[in-house]
Amino acid sequence: MELFGSSGIRGVANETVTPGFCLRVGMAVGTVVGGERVAVGRDTRATGDMFANAVVSGLQSVGCDVDCLGVLPTPAVQLYAERETVPAVMITASHNPAEYNGTKLVGADGIELPVEELERVETALDEDEFARARWDGTGDERRVESGREAYVEEVVGAVDRDRVGGADLTVALDPGHGAGALTSPEIFRELGCSVVTVNAQPDSQFPGRGPEPVPENLADLGRLVRAADADVGIAHDGDADRAIFFDERGEYIEGDATLAVLAASVLGSDETTVSAVTASQRLADVTERAGADLERTPVGSTRIISRVRDLESEGRSVPIAGEGNGGVLFPEYRLARDGAYTAARFLELLVDRPASEVVADVGGYHNVRTTVGYGSDAEREALLAAIARHAEASAGELDTTDGYRLDFGDAWVLARESGTEPVVRIYAEARETDRAHELADELETAFDAALADA
Ligand code: MG
Repeated sequence: MELFGSSGIRGVANETVTPGFCLRVGMAVGTVVGGERVAVGRDTRATGDMFANAVVSGLQSVGCDVDCLGVLPTPAVQLYAERETVPAVMITASHNPAEYNGTKLVGADGIELPVEELERVETALDEDEFARARWDGTGDERRVESGREAYVEEVVGAVDRDRVGGADLTVALDPGHGAGALTSPEIFRELGCSVVTVNAQPDSQFPGRGPEPVPENLADLGRLVRAADADVGIAHDGDADRAIFFDERGEYIEGDATLAVLAASVLGSDETTVSAVTASQRLADVTERAGADLERTPVGSTRIISRVRDLESEGRSVPIAGEGNGGVLFPEYRLARDGAYTAARFLELLVDRPASEVVADVGGYHNVRTTVGYGSDAEREALLAAIARHAEASAGELDTTDGYRLDFGDAWVLARESGTEPVVRIYAEARETDRAHELADELETAFDAALADA
């Protein structure tokens, strides 16, 4: 899967991802996934309308009628696909900067297309195999305005509204000028919260912050939490399938901590949770305490979703899955990441205790993340060889699901090649900050030596 990678097609708009390419994606999806009707939605990016028009045109040319949903969060497009049993194309670059755009493909069950289906779409693109319709068999398009309201109602109806509303919570919300700006303020008000916002106008220029909900983009949200004396801060990425939180003191909460406390609230014995090789020890501890299993996949939501599907088909119960980047799935609700629903479930945990206390349950770990860049294939090869040598000589237990992960019982370190940039990423986690740094430093030293020889 060269094109679709771990999270759909993405690139700089009008350079890597062009209208011509999107036209062909529309033709390929219409040909392979097919059906009489296909839905198209987009996030708030400046190029979203242009690419949506191209996808619509491609779909029409192979005979599909198109429901144009306009700007919506990805989970709202997925809900529409599921309810109408139509496939969908979402135009988004998720958390990437404003100049990026891309596509996510959704099946008629409302779930991201599985790997095998994506491969069929790729083959159609590679081989120009499009089922062009005769002129009088081309598709029609219509605007559908109901997607926003349907999504708000769905999320609000899926949460214990009386319980959340009774707690009289104040929510500070930062949708980051993305698609969540159209839905999340109303969702949390409907849940009975007082809502104060920052960056809450949909804006293709993302003037207040970049679409990625990382601490360096969220200083304003921390200040808003303190200024408004809010109980929690909530931030989304550009297409609002992720949620990141701040506690009542305006302190950033690690996404790993949120995932772990949510998992602790739903996991029962003999159940399974699925996360990536980057999963925190916090999640491993919570899983063990619950008597449940933790399965680790390669990085990326597509991999996690396909593992959940496999486990469910074996009859296993998987009540929660996801990664520490704020992308959480509750498969019994829907096998899709959903920022507003994840946030609503987190609010349920805040009814009795402040957020800082809730996440203190999974505290006590320190994480180090760093990257080592390479400038040529020879340097890349040298780095990969150095990881392999380091792993062989190490006393840690080796897992090669995605890169090299060494587990020392009390700590772990992972080195993996990035799928999108010429870098190797190093992740380390330990109870002591020094120990985490030591594990990452050892690898960095080995990499420096390898690059000096390359
Ligand atoms: Mg996203």
